[in-house]
Amino acid sequence: MRTSVVVGIAIAAVLAACFGAAASQNSWGTPQDGTGTAGTPQNGTQESGQSPGQLRSHPAIDRRVKLPMTAIRAPKGFGERAFARAEKIVGFGPRYSAKPAGMPGWTQQLRYIETELQAAGLKVIRDTWTDRKELITFTNLRATIPGKRDDRILLACHHDTKCTIEHPDQRHNFDFVGANDGASAVALLLELVPTLLATKREATIELVFFDGEESLDWNWNEAARALFGSKRYVKRHREAQVLGEEGRISALILLDMVGGKNLHIQDELYSTTRLRQILWSAAVASGHDKHFFQRAEGAADDHVPFMEVGIPAVDLIDLNGNVTWHTPADTLENLDPRSFEITADVVLTMLPEVEKAYILER
Ligand SMILES: [Zn+2]
Repeated sequence: MRTSVVVGIAIAAVLAACFGAAASQNSWGTPQDGTGTAGTPQNGTQESGQSPGQLRSHPAIDRRVKLPMTAIRAPKGFGERAFARAEKIVGFGPRYSAKPAGMPGWTQQLRYIETELQAAGLKVIRDTWTDRKELITFTNLRATIPGKRDDRILLACHHDTKCTIEHPDQRHNFDFVGANDGASAVALLLELVPTLLATKREATIELVFFDGEESLDWNWNEAARALFGSKRYVKRHREAQVLGEEGRISALILLDMVGGKNLHIQDELYSTTRLRQILWSAAVASGHDKHFFQRAEGAADDHVPFMEVGIPAVDLIDLNGNVTWHTPADTLENLDPRSFEITADVVLTMLPEVEKAYILER
């Protein structure tokens, strides 16, 4: 018997969402192979996330396994409307925070997100804080769509764009508007709001817009200077839970770069296996499977701090093979309304199954 022996080695490279090379060690102390080889897969105890310091990438899922699911379509014209929102956001210019408090585009986007959510009748909670070490002020936004139960599913994205000025290496300094890496997921989540409001659910849905996902250094830097908003969110959530002020987060569905041409959402190997199976099955049920899981690779992103405390999470990210990522070519011209629609179809299709798996049958 070799029950404790981990079988198989995940061979996918570990990529940070905001840097294209493997980290030698992430900020949670998980040693990684600097050559890009991921850690070994763990046993089944990881289904509900990992304990701190245990984050590993999993093997790619078996795509032959498809859960029976009913496709739910985004409303007609969704793609065009989401695209128009991305266009509006890109018009604000660069949208990262800087000392002491933001850039004009950063401020305008926050106001835009807030206004749009309020116009839909949602109460927006703004969490603004200054990072003591960086002396940068960040803001997370969130809004809740109540369900029959308090257990909540988070639909989230980052709203900040990569800073592309004042890097020591001149190749990293250029005009950058983050049409896909930033605007696309914000636009998609905002456009989903009417559909989410029109559906009675068991789960409460919380929309979260994280700040400071992007690494302040050009390189990913082991996440030490990145993921500010998601780390902050998780910390506050844990404190609120201890005080009995907040209920359970059942699962996180994270979106990052979901509007590009030639959409390809990879099988993101840090994400919870069961959620990846649900995502894949939803893609198949929606008839969008050719845009999903053709490649598999880990990507450190805003879901990582959640997984580190045991919250199941899945990252819908188009990073592997994305030629516009962190380049001047991440512009509106390289977005496709159809990609927004495909992603929305799949998210809407997977939601009832996520509720079933993580709330009704848990
Ligand atoms: Zn990025």
